[in-house]
Amino acid sequence: MKAAVLRAPRDLRIEQSDPPVLAPDSVRVRVSIAGLCGTDYRIWSGDRPVRYPRIMGHEFVGVVEAVGAAVTTVRPGDRVAVEPNYSCGVCPLCREGNRNLCLARVAVGIDVDGCFAQSASVPARCCRPVPAGASDEQLLLTEPLAVVVRAVSRGTPRPGERAAVLGVGTLGLLALQVLRVRGARVLALGRTTKRFDLARELGAEATHRIGDGDLGAVGRAFSGREGVDLVVETAGTAEAVAHALELVRPGGRVVLTGLPHEPTSVSFFGVVRREVTILGSMIYQDEFPEAMRLLAAGQVRTQALVTHRFALDALDAAFAAHRDPASIKVAVVP
Ligand SMILES: [Zn+2]
Ligand SMILES: [Zn+2]
Repeated sequence: MKAAVLRAPRDLRIEQSDPPVLAPDSVRVRVSIAGLCGTDYRIWSGDRPVRYPRIMGHEFVGVVEAVGAAVTTVRPGDRVAVEPNYSCGVCPLCREGNRNLCLARVAVGIDVDGCFAQSASVPARCCRPVPAGASDEQLLLTEPLAVVVRAVSRGTPRPGERAAVLGVGTLGLLALQVLRVRGARVLALGRTTKRFDLARELGAEATHRIGDGDLGAVGRAFSGREGVDLVVETAGTAEAVAHALELVRPGGRVVLTGLPHEPTSVSFFGVVRREVTILGSMIYQDEFPEAMRLLAAGQVRTQALVTHRFALDALDAAFAAHRDPASIKVAVVP
């Protein structure tokens, strides 16, 4: 099979190799379409070191090509979305359902080889058969949407509540749609105005450019009270945490789903005085089915989010496109 192999940071080579021998519980998936995200970029650039050589990529839809001897849940020919994280299944965290928090969790495309290849091998339990009628491209964003479904659920929005979404990248544009499905009214905030038309088209009631005025006042104006009920942070920057705390009302909730890699200073004085609930949200537990259902039903729209498509041979160009301010989601079609 053909694969894009990262030999060292920024040293990506298209290589031909035999697919690995299938473990009894594993499945080989022919990759139909894959998504590239910030995590892949960080690995490619060397910001996030991995063991080399590594085949990156963790967002994908494909067709089961072969199954290991012990696999009973999927068969060759099944179309699947792949949940690219698997846990040990036996530790206390896994047994209580917190498998996203398992300390032995394995991330496909990071800890083991992923989907920037013609095929990828994953444990059968990672394969989620997809609903009939939903196209591969529609389902491409299942993985990031599952992240967002969990983040929004952690924030327990109630119909009619006012919510703010920080960031208008892929996660932000998905989060505002999930919040709308749950009945919340949404203010979208970003550093530039260029995706605000799209955010409104996808259901944001208002937009605000960060940097234009005091965010506390913006939250109060949008909510008609002391601030918004809920903030979903998707920007993943240190300052976004502070922005979330400015927007939220006393007694409100802040869900952090972006991963700020730099140290963040937070004024906990306000967190205590205003009884703000801050919740972390880490990938997903059982949110894949709901994510696929939302996509298949058209309740979450992603067509406008997939801005670029590249063949596997052009993966370097795909990484360059990821950094292009005009891009939202870059797809790779092996
Ligand atoms: Zn990703
Ligand atoms: Zn575990």
